[in-house]
Amino acid sequence: MTIRQTDVVIIGAGPAGLFSVFQAGQLGLKCEVIDILEQPGGQCAELYPEKPIYDIPGIPHCSGGSLTTGLMAQIERFAPIFHLGAQADQLE
Ligand SMILES: Cc1cc2nc3c(=O)[nH]c(=O)nc-3n(C[C@H](O)[C@H](O)[C@H](O)COP(=O)(O)OP(=O)(O)OC[C@H]3O[C@@H](n4cnc5c(N)ncnc54)[C@H](O)[C@@H]3O)c2cc1C
Repeated sequence: MTIRQTDVVIIGAGPAGLFSVFQAGQLGLKCEVIDILEQPGGQCAELYPEKPIYDIPGIPHCSGGSLTTGLMAQIERFAPIFHLGAQADQLE
């Protein structure tokens, strides 16, 4: 895995990491995202893609999979670089 010079490195492509890409993007910061899993979405995508979620403000219900799809659509314009299937095991 090679991280080029970037503004922010986010470890974890779960909902928190994906929305961090959005918030950083709003500030004009470019992100690279590392996740050991082969897909983004964290627990929502890996453990319960079909289970309904009822506690997202403004969304009466969605699934773990559709939440992930929505988060990915929300950050698309910021063009984050993903390093999937890669574990962050040290910081220098
Ligand atoms: C069965 C189940 C049902 C749930 N239902 C709900 C619900 O209905 N409503 C609700 O609000 N919450 C629910 N939750 C909880 C919710 O899924 C979590 O709160 C949420 O996923 C946390 O998001 P996160 O981005 O902080 O972490 P995670 O989703 O855990 O994502 C963290 C990511 O970081 C990656 N990672 C960690 N360390 C490294 C490393 N060193 N290198 C590379 N990658 C790394 C992991 O692979 C993972 O993909 C549920 C959880 C489970 C298990």
